[in-house]
Amino acid sequence: MNKKPIVAGNWKMNKTPSQGRELIRDIENMVSDIQNTQIIFFPAFPGLFDLTLRSPFYLGSQNCHWEDSGAFTGEVSIEMLKEFGVQYIIVGHSERRQLFNEDDNIINKKIKAILSAELKPILCIGETIEDRNSGNTENFLENQLKKGLEGVESLNGCIIAYEPIWAIGTGETADKDQIYQAHNFINSVLKKIFPESNNCHILYGGSVNTENAKDLIQIIGVDGFLIGGASLDKESFSSIINQVEKN
Ligand code: PEP
Repeated sequence: MNKKPIVAGNWKMNKTPSQGRELIRDIENMVSDIQNTQIIFFPAFPGLFDLTLRSPFYLGSQNCHWEDSGAFTGEVSIEMLKEFGVQYIIVGHSERRQLFNEDDNIINKKIKAILSAELKPILCIGETIEDRNSGNTENFLENQLKKGLEGVESLNGCIIAYEPIWAIGTGETADKDQIYQAHNFINSVLKKIFPESNNCHILYGGSVNTENAKDLIQIIGVDGFLIGGASLDKESFSSIINQVEKN
């Protein structure tokens, strides 16, 4: 792998700010001599406050609004997030798409706003089990990529997370071949849309844990992980970081 792998922990609506600070402190102490891995924590909004992270640890947000400011009750702007030191923002997570009705148009606006603020979006894409079973996975992924990235000039700063919906939080990981095929396909679509850029990380997400991390990180085209459940536990998350670092 010629890119520094990323291990990203999406805490979702878990951990109070003080619990989050404790988790990060513990993980910083449990991983040693990390030279080759970037680690990104994604707390909920209140947990972004009062955290100072140093390389190889970085801060990300689970969401943002695309407008700079205004009458958008309950929303948070990218400028606000920047003041906390946020450098990465997750966009298009399947929970946002399914539970909060975020469509490709909203996702595209967010991606463009994040890039123009010089932060890094992590665009999540992934098929449903119905799409996979009916042989529609590639169409589905291509469509999400094209719509999510419509009008984006350069892939610089973008990260893609391949997260098959049926593998998120289910304990059912996609198998090596499915992951290889999907990452390879995503890479080929990106090359078609952005012939100039080939430096985009493609992360895998979906029930990554301490037992499968070593095998999954060895799949060609996997540049790291986006992790939900296992990122909430200090032993699991630091073990995954150490396994990725040693790979
Ligand atoms: C996620 O929510 O992005 C995710 C991959 O969750 P989990 O690791 O729990 O499957």
